[in-house]
Amino acid sequence: MLQSQNREVRKNAYNQLYGVYKSFRNTIAQTLINSVKKDCLLARLRKHNSALEASVFADNVDLSVYNNLINSVRKNISLLHRYVEFRRQVMKLPELQMYDLYVPLVSELNKAYTYQEAAKLMLDGLAPLGEKYLQDLKGGLDNGWVDVYENKGKTSGAYSTGTYGYHPYILLNFNHTINDVFTLAHEAGHAMHTFYSHNNQPYRNASYTIFVAEVASTLNENLLIKHLLAKSTDNKEKLYLLNYNLEQFRTTVFRQTMFAEFEKIIHQKIEEGISLTPDSLCEIYYELNKFYYQGVQLDDEISMEWSRIPHFYNAFYVYKYATGFSAAVALSNGILKEGQEKLEKYLAFLSSGGKDYPIELLKYAGVDMGTPQPVDDCLKSFGESLDLATKLL
Ligand SMILES: [Zn+2]
Repeated sequence: MLQSQNREVRKNAYNQLYGVYKSFRNTIAQTLINSVKKDCLLARLRKHNSALEASVFADNVDLSVYNNLINSVRKNISLLHRYVEFRRQVMKLPELQMYDLYVPLVSELNKAYTYQEAAKLMLDGLAPLGEKYLQDLKGGLDNGWVDVYENKGKTSGAYSTGTYGYHPYILLNFNHTINDVFTLAHEAGHAMHTFYSHNNQPYRNASYTIFVAEVASTLNENLLIKHLLAKSTDNKEKLYLLNYNLEQFRTTVFRQTMFAEFEKIIHQKIEEGISLTPDSLCEIYYELNKFYYQGVQLDDEISMEWSRIPHFYNAFYVYKYATGFSAAVALSNGILKEGQEKLEKYLAFLSSGGKDYPIELLKYAGVDMGTPQPVDDCLKSFGESLDLATKLL
């Protein structure tokens, strides 16, 4: 209902939803504050300087990666404000409210794809990854890697999984839409990462961490979207694709970075000996929204949003979505522009599992997350997609 085209419906849904969270605000605040205190205590017991430092230590990631991400996004936040204004214009609204953010901007394309057509489209889009990648993936599709359709008792969603010594599997609930084509490309990215890593690494080094996992999947989506945009002659279809892309940026880069900033602030407060309360959590969250979503009419309800984000109980995790996405954009742009040399590095990365720390692996692939460059470039791409979409209006 939050996605309803009827403004009254989504407004009511939004208010009802947050109304219920509000009625539990003291309880949920207390559980979150306890979780934050636990993070800070464990970090101190292990002689880290902060909970954030303890968390990035596990991936051997430097604090600067976390901080660079926040700084770059803050520096470029006017791009998100432009997107908000773009959304307001498309929706023909006098002002944009928080509950207007969930509505699809462009109605679903009426095109339906058979699974065979989807697979063909994906393989065409992934052509820049070279003949071997295509052959290996096609071989997998033809040989039972994928459970394609919805079925009685089958779990929802989509994912890829692998067992060392055997080929990966992909679970889909293919429903013939363009989104399903992207999902296939995404999961194929994970599957090929697993396939190459398992084939090239000894058992102990074969699995890769979350930090690098979404690079392989998102990169495929990026290549596919570029391919589809290049070959589309229909403005409505182009706008749909661009909007899909813009929403990916908004929800993966901007939103997750705002979450990352919230986590950083609330942990710092506890570490500085400042108490957190339901009011202070709401205030911190509201202030962040004011900065990130300038141009949207803020309401009181949004200050409760922190209470519905389960990831906060697994602190300093979500920034990896934003850095992974940025790395994928940087690498796919590199492969498209510079070709062979970049491609070979990227394929070597796909074969490297967890043989080194994630930042090192990404460096071999050709992107240095220790510098602000990849996130800056990624945001530049967001600006370019926004320019294109604005022109098509
Ligand atoms: Zn994924």
